[in-house]
Amino acid sequence: MEEMKLESILLPGIDPKRPIVIAGPCSAESEEQVLTTAHQLASKGIKIFRAGIWKPRTKPGGFEGIGVIGLPWLKKVKEETGMYVATEVATKDHVFEALKAGVDILWIGARTTVNPFAVQEVADALKGVDIPVLIKNPVNPDLELWIGAFQRLYRAGIKRLGAIHRGFSSYDKKIYRNLPLWHIPIELRRRMPDLPIFCDPSHIGGKRELIAPLSQQAMDLSFDGLIIESHCNPDAAWSDAAQQITPDILDYVLNLLVVRDSNQSTENLSELRRQIDNVDEQLLELLAKRMRISREIGIYKKEHNMPILQSPRYSEILEKRSDMGKQMDLNPDFIKDILKEIHEESVRQQMVIMNENN
Ligand code: PEP
Ligand code: MN
Repeated sequence: MEEMKLESILLPGIDPKRPIVIAGPCSAESEEQVLTTAHQLASKGIKIFRAGIWKPRTKPGGFEGIGVIGLPWLKKVKEETGMYVATEVATKDHVFEALKAGVDILWIGARTTVNPFAVQEVADALKGVDIPVLIKNPVNPDLELWIGAFQRLYRAGIKRLGAIHRGFSSYDKKIYRNLPLWHIPIELRRRMPDLPIFCDPSHIGGKRELIAPLSQQAMDLSFDGLIIESHCNPDAAWSDAAQQITPDILDYVLNLLVVRDSNQSTENLSELRRQIDNVDEQLLELLAKRMRISREIGIYKKEHNMPILQSPRYSEILEKRSDMGKQMDLNPDFIKDILKEIHEESVRQQMVIMNENN
């Protein structure tokens, strides 16, 4: 991967102490709503204000954002509160308007990150501009697409980049509006260690009650910041009403967060890590052994002209092992997922054997 040399400070004067908080309404609705919310947030010590001016909506006909007439309201927020202001951009026109109005931070929304043409358009419009840009994960769980968006902005000269993890849409919704799939931002951190990562518990949870636990999880996973939707009158919000909280509640949630020092490494921790290293080694050895046996089975099947996939056997493995896992206090779904992956790799290896022409 091309190396990106990012600037470490997103915004001058913003304490990099975790969490860096961005808060504000999903959408700018009226001058009064924007300024009331902004003043309440500023009085709680919030330094970065968000508000959507252009709103990407799933279906036409809903509130699609107040548009350019809302930009002077953001300017007023800056003048009256001293906060930095952030808004979403999806086209070159959005970029020009936002820059003209003095918006300090831009973010690219989840529905835009999925589209390389749109991301490139935003990147091209930003050539030669020095402004921080936060990129939300694409709605689909595709880390490479997310990283590709960072590369497009970086190549356009943007050196102050940040990621926003807002969860991934899925067909069957359960607890979350968007599944967190934490391993994806964790992998992003491994691939781009200097990139600050924000969590958006509002869009992941879709409900007010989930904002506090998701924020805590993000802190426990060493995220750098939080972007939280906050509205002076959440029930009356024109978009995403169920997931917004008042500035008062936000303050309460932030005060309850336990933020542990991510660099602290105690003796006990290194001992436990050694144990984990050891167990991982054993797991790998066992996996290698299992694959060896599986290849032997492949040879047998080839010699006896049998098909690779034998569904009853596969179902039996899944059922028996997940029952066994349950008795060992292991989450049966987790066990099933692992076994599916292992089985897929076994099948792949047996296919190689089947197709060898000897
Ligand atoms: C938003 O931040 O209000 C928004 C539209 O988010 P997302 O792009 O994550 O859906
Ligand atoms: Mn929203």
